[in-house]
Formats: sequence, structure tokens, C-alpha cells
Amino acid sequence: MEAIALPRPAPLLVDGEWRAAVSGKTFETVNPADERVITEVAEAGEAEVDAAVRAARRALEEGPWGRMSAAERGRLVWRMGERILEELDRLAAIETMDTGKTLFDSRKIELPMAAAIFHYYGGAATKLGGRTLITHPGAFTYTLREPVGVVAAIVPWNFPFLLASWKVAPALAAGCAVILKPASETPLSALEMGRIGLEVGLPAGVLQVLPGPGSTTGMALVRHPGVNKVAFTGSTEVGRTILREAAGTVKRVTLELGGKSPNIVFADADLDAAVKGAFTGIFYNKGEVCAAGSRLLVERAVHEEVVAKLAERARALKLGDPRDPATRMGPVISARQMASVLRYIEVGRREGAVLAAGGGRATEVNEGRGYFVQPTVFDRVSPEMTIAREEIFGPVLAAIEFDGVEDAVAKANATVYGLAAGVWTRDVTKAHLVARAVRAGTVWINTYNLYDPALPFGGYGQSGFGRELGLEALEAYLETKSVWLHLGS
Ligand code: NAP
Ligand code: MG
Repeated sequence: MEAIALPRPAPLLVDGEWRAAVSGKTFETVNPADERVITEVAEAGEAEVDAAVRAARRALEEGPWGRMSAAERGRLVWRMGERILEELDRLAAIETMDTGKTLFDSRKIELPMAAAIFHYYGGAATKLGGRTLITHPGAFTYTLREPVGVVAAIVPWNFPFLLASWKVAPALAAGCAVILKPASETPLSALEMGRIGLEVGLPAGVLQVLPGPGSTTGMALVRHPGVNKVAFTGSTEVGRTILREAAGTVKRVTLELGGKSPNIVFADADLDAAVKGAFTGIFYNKGEVCAAGSRLLVERAVHEEVVAKLAERARALKLGDPRDPATRMGPVISARQMASVLRYIEVGRREGAVLAAGGGRATEVNEGRGYFVQPTVFDRVSPEMTIAREEIFGPVLAAIEFDGVEDAVAKANATVYGLAAGVWTRDVTKAHLVARAVRAGTVWINTYNLYDPALPFGGYGQSGFGRELGLEALEAYLETKSVWLHLGS
């Protein structure tokens, strides 16, 4: 793979221009596979937030963006999808460097999916509209759909480009202006998205990118009176803070938060498929997946067999340099995240769960450099244990036994979260009944972790509210105005 040239420091994107921070501050971004600094990035502060909000407002009210036809807007969003496909190699290399995810996953799965998101919403721009309502004979009543305005999109580090596309594409299709704040661990691909936006012809101020700390840059966006809506993906804890802070200016907020999703395997399932699904359900992207099937619920009759097969696969999983095609799992995102995952493993042990595979740092990988954690399977987990309740956000699976449908559903729902769930069975009736009974925004039957731009995704309970993807996502970026014209009495 050829080396990717990146500016040092990488500038911010404000009002159609690449700028250094007014404060002159920069921060480093690190490759988690070798612990080396990739480059420095300009750190946005309050001055940049304010400038970006003003530019976004100008774009909406004075610039060409607010006057553009839906078709033209849709074409620009579509073209972003085209550019992503043309630049797959570069974007995937950058994403893999910044996150530690395998190049296969960036290049073959996530960047193409991001392109598909832009294509989907490019097509959606021309399908928006209000309704004509039948009310009084003397009235002509209808609704208008209008862009909500300036959107702050705050995203995490696990799928930096993909999760940004989940917000940026529908927001642009709806006619909003977006200020994108990437996670501090992974600012690079968001800057690439900003560049692509400029290059396809988005007017100045329509898509701006402000890397910087959540506690300052993120908070400034959440508090700024000129921001109309915050679209957030991240931890439940930060989600709560954002909700509280956004109350000051009564901003619209949507939250995609954490999860502790149950993957339920019934004894009548195709067990090989279930084992495979449970395996990728937890180990895809090193377990740094909000919808990870981190609680494996297995019916008693097949529990031992399923866990044994999973443990065997986990022990054979090839960790290594994410660019190596033979690598199946890369390092977790940071030293801090690794410490947190290892702490959870320790707590699991202490509380009496039994290690079936893994259980520590993988020090033999990549000459000891990088934040590699062994794919870990805990057996004999009981629902009260910390590792069955809290989101670990790493390659750690908690296997729990159950007896029959009722017990499965009760255990599946014994969580404050409700992002996703999996059901494995050959019995169609059981599959649909369990899908209804489980409180989660997505239920996969005989598969796990599949997404489509058309299918809404989001949480029940403390996994957040609002839906991304599908036509539902557009709702978050539109206001509804009712118009009443008096015709006579
Ligand atoms: P995080 O700490 O919540 O950060 C997410 C984003 O919010 C980052 O850009 C972060 O900036 C920013 N941020 C932090 N504090 C902020 C504040 N006070 N005001 C405004 N913005 C703030 O989460 P993370 O550690 O990056 O990601 C892991 C967590 O995200 C996991 O718990 C996972 O469940 C959740 N997640 C959920 C989904 C979903 O779709 N539901 C998807 C992915 C991840 P900094 O990077 O500078 O801190
Ligand atoms: Mg963070």
C-alpha cells in the first residue's frame, strides 16, 4: 500500500476554507496498531465554533444552498457517494490507520456502505414533502417540511466515516448545514469527508469539520444558540450531558448511545450459523460496535457446545497489523480503552465468570506494539454480574444460559439498553414472537450486524432515541410547519 500524504498539522474546515485554529492549538492522532503519531490536527475552539455557526447560518439564509432545488441538492449528496467510491483506497487506508480496524473492513464493507448512504439520501432529497389536510370547508390546510437549520453532528471513534455519513447525508438531503465534530481519537476521515463535500461543490458553510475535544469544542456546539439540532452518537454518559446542556436552548436532539445487546441462540437453531453469527456479532471491529452482541444467551441443551465452538474460534482468530490481509482483528482504539477492557475482564474473573478463551492483552502481536486485546469469551456468566450489565465496548463476550422462550426474553430484556438483538432458531413462529417481545430498535433473525441504508436504526431505553438511516432519519432534520389559509366561512 502506498503511503498516504497528510498535512501536518491538518487544518480545520470552516466556511469553505482550510484554516489553522485561532488559538494555534493542535493535537496528535495515533495509530493504535503501532502507537505512533500519524499527524497533528488543528484543534477547534469556541472561536471556530462561533465562526462555523455563522457561516452555516449564512449558507442557509443568504448562500445558494437555501435556494437550491431539491434535485440539485440531491445531486450533490449523490456525488459525494460517487467520490467515496472513487477514493476507496485512500479513505480506507486513512480510516484503518486512525482506528486499527482491518483494511478489509474499511475497504470492502464500511466505506462502500458510507457511499451507499450518500446515494440513498441523494435520491431521497426529491421525495420530501408535506401533506394537504382535510379540515374545514372554509380552509385550505397543508404542511410544509423545512430544514431544521444548523446541525451539530458529534460522532465517536468506532466507525468515524460511516457514522458521520449516517448524519451528514440525511441532514444535507433535508437542506440543513452540518458542523461535524469527529472523535479526538479519529479526526482524519471526517476531514476527508469535508474535502469531498467541497470538491463535489457543496457551497461554503454547508459542511464544516471541527476536530477538538468533546468537553470544549463539542460542548460549545451543544450550547451555541445558533445550533438548532445536535445529532450525537457515543456513550450514554455523554449523551446524558448533551441532553442536559441542550435544554438551555431547547435544541432538537437525537441520541445513538450504548448497548448490551443479547444474541439469543435456541437449541433448534442451525448451530454452525449461530456460532458464526455470535462470533462476528461480538468480534467484528474488535467489539467496538454499539450493537455488538455482547450477551450471548444460549439454551441449556446446546450451551456447552456453542460456547466450546466459539472459544475454539476465538483462540484461532488472527490478530495483527490491520493492513495485512491475513489479519482478522486489529487493536482496540487506545491505551485508555485497552485498560478499560482489561479492567472489565478482571472484574468478570473476580465475580466468578469462567474464562473460556482469551482474557488478556495480546503481547505477542506486532512485536509488542499496539493495543491488542485477546478475543475473550466468558462462560458461566450470571445476569447480575458487571460484565453482563455494562457495556465493555471491546472483544469480550459474556455467555449466559437460559431455559425456554420466556426465560430467554426475560434475560434479554434485563438491561437498561435496547439497541439491538439477535435470535437464532429454525422455528419461524418462535422467531417472530421473540422479535416482538425483545425491547430493541433492531432484531436480527438468523443473522447479526447487518445494515442497510433503507432500514432505520436506533435505540429503545437508554440506548437513545431518534432513528438513523431509512426515511425515518430525515425526520430528525426537518421541521413541520402547518399553514392555514382562510377561504371563507
Ligand atoms: P464518547 O466519549 O461519548 O464520545 C463521542 C463523541 O462525543 C466524541 O466526538 C467526543 O469527543 C464527544 N464528546 C465527549 N464529551 C462531550 C461533551 N461533553 N459534549 C459534547 N461532545 C462530547 O464516546 P466514545 O468514547 O467516543 O465512544 C464509545 C461509546 O460510544 C460507547 O459507549 C458506545 O456504546 C457508544 N457508541 C454508540 C453508538 C450508537 O450508534 N448507538 C455507536 C458508536 C458508539 P472526544 O472524542 O473529544 O471525547
Ligand atoms: Mg471519548
